[in-house]
Amino acid sequence: MMDKIKKIKLATVWLAGCSGCHMSFLDLDEWLFELVKYADIVHSPIADIKGYPENVDVCLVEGAIANEENLELIHEIRKQTKFLISFGDCAVTANVPAMRNMMGGDNADMVLRRSYLELGDVTPQLPYAPGIVPELLEKVSPVHEVVKVDMYIPGCPPSADRIKAAIAPLLEGKMPLMEGREMIKFG
Ligand code: SF4
Repeated sequence: MMDKIKKIKLATVWLAGCSGCHMSFLDLDEWLFELVKYADIVHSPIADIKGYPENVDVCLVEGAIANEENLELIHEIRKQTKFLISFGDCAVTANVPAMRNMMGGDNADMVLRRSYLELGDVTPQLPYAPGIVPELLEKVSPVHEVVKVDMYIPGCPPSADRIKAAIAPLLEGKMPLMEGREMIKFG
């Protein structure tokens, strides 16, 4: 009888990003069937699982830290995860979400006013629902500025080939070789 494969617990998380990195994850196509032989997806925007579980082996984090919900969640993720991966340029450098940092000062208020009041076509109003709509942080940060990161997969988004080359070795408890244009080019 064949030995049963010991599956790892794999999570993916979508913070301040456009979900393009997760779209690229879905581009793994048939390899996703291979992946689930070796990993249980225990939390992900592509799976209807509420809350972040305990004892996660590997987590891919898409997006920067831009609001209070992102901040709270990334600390919880770090606490419950053995190997945390910054997944995509927004996680690695803060990228697009951090463009408002360049405005300095009260940039969170400025972008909210521009988006919801000045450009509001029908009923211009600022989103305000304490406990429901998270407050924007004054500075958008890459993940490693907030918690320890164990590995980086750059790219906007990282290609499916790069994602596969990065996580396939992890399924066997090995570290991938993250070097060269194919693996660490930004953009
Ligand atoms: S890295 Fe690019 S594709 Fe990924 S979330 Fe950011 S903007 Fe979207």
